[in-house]
Amino acid sequence: MPVADLRSDELVVAGERRGARDGAMTTLVAPATGEPFAEVARAGPADVEVALTCAHAAFAEGQGAWPRTSATERGRVLARVSALLRERAEALAELEATGAGHPIGDARWEVEAAARTFEYYAGAANKHLGTTIPIMDPGLAITLREPVGVCALIVPWNFPLLIACWKVAPALACGNPIILKPASATPLTALALGDILVTAGVPAEAVHVLAGPGAVLGDLLVADPRVAKVGFTGETATGAHILRQSADTITRVSLELGGKSAAVVFADADIARAAAATTASVFANAGQDCCARSRILVERPAYDAFVAAFADATQAMVMGEPLDPATEVGPMISAGQRQTSLDYLALGAAEGTRLVCGGEVPDRPGFYLSPAVVAEVDNDMRIAREEIFGPVAAVIPFDDEADAIRIANDSDYGLSGSLWTGSAPRAIRVARRLRVGTLSVNSHSSVRVETPFGGMKRSGLGRELGLAAMDLYSETRTVFFSEE
Ligand code: NAD
Repeated sequence: MPVADLRSDELVVAGERRGARDGAMTTLVAPATGEPFAEVARAGPADVEVALTCAHAAFAEGQGAWPRTSATERGRVLARVSALLRERAEALAELEATGAGHPIGDARWEVEAAARTFEYYAGAANKHLGTTIPIMDPGLAITLREPVGVCALIVPWNFPLLIACWKVAPALACGNPIILKPASATPLTALALGDILVTAGVPAEAVHVLAGPGAVLGDLLVADPRVAKVGFTGETATGAHILRQSADTITRVSLELGGKSAAVVFADADIARAAAATTASVFANAGQDCCARSRILVERPAYDAFVAAFADATQAMVMGEPLDPATEVGPMISAGQRQTSLDYLALGAAEGTRLVCGGEVPDRPGFYLSPAVVAEVDNDMRIAREEIFGPVAAVIPFDDEADAIRIANDSDYGLSGSLWTGSAPRAIRVARRLRVGTLSVNSHSSVRVETPFGGMKRSGLGRELGLAAMDLYSETRTVFFSEE
């Protein structure tokens, strides 16, 4: 399918393409050029009201068409979504590359991962089982797994399609209507997903995609008693605001928030391999990745060798146009996001760090910044404590295993991490002590649809992906059958 046929400038309300009620539009800017490239309808309070009324009626206390569709049939519909994502993969990848600045190779991976997400939850839909509990004789108790109701799914701009699918797929698998709220800057692939859901057979009244500002739409959705569940990915400060907004209605909330993840490299590791792999773990998506290993802790005897090899590998990364297949590092999402990274680099310099390479704004249009390796960083510095969300890696020395664990855990965040060592006993010891939701040993894997994913401390609340996500989007009810 050509991109032009996939792309639309309208919202999806009750499964139909519609302009905003008040006619408002948002201008989208292409990260690679810094120029406007599309106009998209901007939802306002009137659009939220229509979507909420419709989605609430679609749930109808669990008696609506989608909640009552058999789990097996829901799985079939989700499998069709997966097939449609694959059919339209190239156009979706191009749209993501243009709108979010992802290198096209990464964008293709993202669409395939989105298709796999629907495939996984297609299979999960009719295996989400209740239990039989033998607590009385005669009699028994059973548990039922039922949809929660209207799900407001609020997602960020860094992986616009994939993170939407991580929420939409399990929410639909459990039988819930969804209202998806993409980030203002990157709504196009989420809107295209809305069309795909309806084409695949999700009832129209259960599908709503509202593009627009989070500060307006977010509050309207989160505080509304018709919303049963909020699934959110974004900044920790926004997550905290959402928790407060959901307090009066006791709305279920799951939060995937910020990170300042550590890669811990021991001197007994394969330093060349660790250095080469670390580039992807911190500079993929121009560092705009919640799992970015932006603190790299290296044991002192290997520190200089690691920094040299890491800087070489970083400088070998190809920066370029998102649509060029050779590109490994694309532009950042906006001038503001780039400026934040530049400000942290200046702050780091003032704190006495050493810029080994990168941190330059190339002479070309768009929001590019060359990946920066910063050495001689202390974990107390702001550059090591605060999430930068850009291509800035801070390399911190440590003395021994206890020191490594102390520094890695000395963070407000606890999303992910990596551990590089040649010793299996050490890998087991240290892995058990690092306070993070996801840890990879001698690799930089962060996320697989089959495994639970989420953060500790201020990195989040709840676990997405895997079968854990089915718990986020369903209620467990208990029914007794007894003569007592
Ligand atoms: P953000 O918090 O600014 O925005 C995320 C979404 O929330 C957007 O759709 C936005 O419009 C909406 N929003 C804004 N204000 C809101 C409000 N008052 N109420 C409800 N919704 C509101 O985050 P961002 O800048 O788009 O994304 C970057 C952040 O996301 C980083 O902190 C990153 O670490 C985090 N992130 C976390 C994960 C994870 O899985 N843990 C994954 C990706 C990104």
